[in-house]
This record gives sequence, C-alpha cells and structure tokens, in this order.
Amino acid sequence: MAAMGALDRVEASGAAALAGVRVRAPNGRVIAGDFIAEHGFRGFRDRGLSVRREVLDAILLDAARAAGAHVSEGVRVTALLRDGGRINGVSALTPSGTQEIRAKLVIGADGLRSVVARRLGVARTLRWPKRLALVTHYANVGDVGEHGEMHVERDGYVGIADVGNGLTTVALVVPARRSREISGDRGAFLDAWLRARPHLAPRFAHATRATPVVATGPFASHARRAWAPGVALVGDAADFFDPFTGEGIYAALRGGELLSEWAAESVAARNESGARRALEAYDAARRREFRGKWLVERVIGAVVGAAPLINRAARGLSARKDLADLLIGVTGNFVPPREVISLSYLWGVFGWGVSSRVRSSS
Ligand SMILES: Cc1cc2nc3c(=O)[nH]c(=O)nc-3n(C[C@H](O)[C@H](O)[C@H](O)COP(=O)(O)OP(=O)(O)OC[C@H]3O[C@@H](n4cnc5c(N)ncnc54)[C@H](O)[C@@H]3O)c2cc1C
Repeated sequence: MAAMGALDRVEASGAAALAGVRVRAPNGRVIAGDFIAEHGFRGFRDRGLSVRREVLDAILLDAARAAGAHVSEGVRVTALLRDGGRINGVSALTPSGTQEIRAKLVIGADGLRSVVARRLGVARTLRWPKRLALVTHYANVGDVGEHGEMHVERDGYVGIADVGNGLTTVALVVPARRSREISGDRGAFLDAWLRARPHLAPRFAHATRATPVVATGPFASHARRAWAPGVALVGDAADFFDPFTGEGIYAALRGGELLSEWAAESVAARNESGARRALEAYDAARRREFRGKWLVERVIGAVVGAAPLINRAARGLSARKDLADLLIGVTGNFVPPREVISLSYLWGVFGWGVSSRVRSSS
C-alpha cells in the first residue's frame, strides 16, 4: 500500500490507529495484546490502521487508476473463456449486455464466493467452521478506545473497533444454524444479541446504526491451488478461514504483492510452459508465505468455538502478557507464526491452569 501511495491517503482519511487487541472470553477474563511489546518484533507501523471498507476501497481503486489500470464498474463475471486447456478471458454481464473480454492472464480477485475459483473447479468449502456474520457501523458507542475488541460468548463472538470519523464497526459472528433467525430482521437480531450481554448493553444504550446490516458467510473456503493455465486466484478467492483474526485485508494485499511479480513473468513468458511455471511459482510462494498463518488461524478458530478452551486460554494468556503480545503480533502479521507454533508456547497458554492447580493442591 505504501508503494502505491495509498497508505498516506488511508492515514489522512481519518482512519483510527489501534494500539492492540483485547479479547474477552465467556468467563469474563480478558486477553490484552499490544502491538508495541517487549518481544522485539516491530510492525511496518506501530499502530494498526482501522478504516471503513468504503473508504479503503475507493483509495485502492484510485491508486489502481493512477497506476494505469482501466477500471470498469458494474460488470459481473459469469464464466471463463477457454482455448483448449487454457483460460483466455471471461464472459461478463455489463450495463450494455454480455461481453467477452479476452486476456493473457485472468486474475480472480472476486472474493469468498469467487466465480473464477468455482468455474475452475478448485474451490473447496471446508466443512468446519460453519459461521455467519452480521456487519454494520454504529455512532455513539460508549467506551470505544484505542484497542480492537473481540468478545467471545458461548453462542458466537462480536468484534468491535473504532474505524475513525466517529464510527464503530461491529461484526457479529454466529453459528450458521441460526441463519433462519438472522434472515428476518438482521438489525433486530443484532440489537437483541448485544442487549443480552450485560457488559455490552450499556455501551450500546445511546448508539445508533449508521449503515445497513450486511449478512455474509459461511466462510472457510480454500482453493486446492491458486492457479490454472491462464488464470490466478488471490485474496479470499484463494482462501479465507474465519474473520476472528481480522487479517483478510492483509492477506489480500500481500497476496496481490506476491502475484504481481509472477503475473508479470507469466505474461512475458515466451511459451506456455514458461507461463505455467511462473504461476506454479506464485502458488508455491503463497504457501510458503501463509502456511504458518493458516495453521494458527485454524487453532484459533477451534479454540474460539469451544467455551472451555477459550476460557482456559484466557486464564493462561491473561497471566502471561508476553504470550498475549506474541499472539496479537502474529495476527497483526509482524511476528512470525513459528513464535506461537510450539509446545512451549501452548504449554504457556494451556498448561498454566494445570500448574497452578498442582501448586494450590500441594
Ligand atoms: C465479518 C467479517 C469481518 C472482517 N473483518 C476484517 C477485519 O477487521 N480486518 C481484515 O483485514 N479483514 C477482515 N475481514 C476479511 C476481509 O473482509 C476479506 O478477507 C477481504 O475483503 C478480502 O479481500 P478480497 O479483495 O479478496 O475480496 P473482497 O473484499 O470480497 O472483494 C471482492 C470483489 O470482487 C467483486 N466481485 C465478486 N464477484 C464478482 C464477479 N462475479 N464479477 C466481478 N466482480 C466480482 C466484489 O464486488 C468485490 O468488489 C472480515 C471478513 C468478515 C466476513
């Protein structure tokens, strides 16, 4: 983003600067992780930027235009065009009818329900976890500070964060089995969920919704591979697990950065096998870059979905701020995942309750 000149514009847009994250477990314990900590790792910036998608997307689109991209809005890709075994364009619905658009390389950056991934036959929906989200923005939420908040309950979790300009983003994630209740009045469902939590209700007493409540999910989809001859996948189209760790934007941007190098090489290749090798190399680079995070995301997804586990983790992490800071740094993408993928880390988190019980009974 910095290279595109977009970062300065995001900062100038009134984006909130977050200092870390607070995770509240169902037992009321709070895991407090900060971006600046004693572990010695530092991010690109000391604070996380929190901004509305409407603002971020407009800035990114402008940056793409400024870099020479031709942008067509209101166009929906419906199918891939093939020449033998190779993709060489898309069929799309445009305001002036269906059009065939030819390309040397098609990039499927079309999100969680990617048409490109589905038409290629590489999209794989994971069986677990099956969760849905309701997302909106409120004005006048009480006590919103400089930390992102995750409140985990037995029946779901809610993320709350300042997004600047007086607005707070609220994203409620619940098991997909509640889809029928949600499909009625989403706003009423969200308000009732928040009002039913004694620690949240007073903070929303004077809050007003500033944007419509959007429903999304289920998540957890992973393309078997992020390329095929003539096409590459990036962002959620390639993989998205669960919103808890709040890092999909980073993965989409970093994936785009990785792809740019190999896409250029694929397009410039003298022959088909050179073009394929470049895309294979992109896929391998993605795996190297993200596989540690995929593992961490899955462990967090499991812990968050089981109250006894998250309660236990909260006991351990609230007693060991150093471990909480490391975990928040991993989800912030500036601490390497290996720092938390170890038996000693897991023992620090989950073994704490055991050793304190042993001490108290001895
Ligand atoms: C509840 C929730 C909360 C989240 N919170 C955070 C957070 O706090 N921080 C964070 O970093 N990430 C968060 N994420 C994840 C983040 O939103 C995604 O990972 C990120 O948006 C992925 O970017 P993307 O460009 O791959 O896909 P998207 O942002 O989904 O963009 C896909 C684009 O493709 C377009 N498109 C789709 N289909 C077609 C088609 N057929 N033809 C043409 N265009 C098409 C769409 O209109 C859209 O513009 C959250 C996700 C959810 C569900």
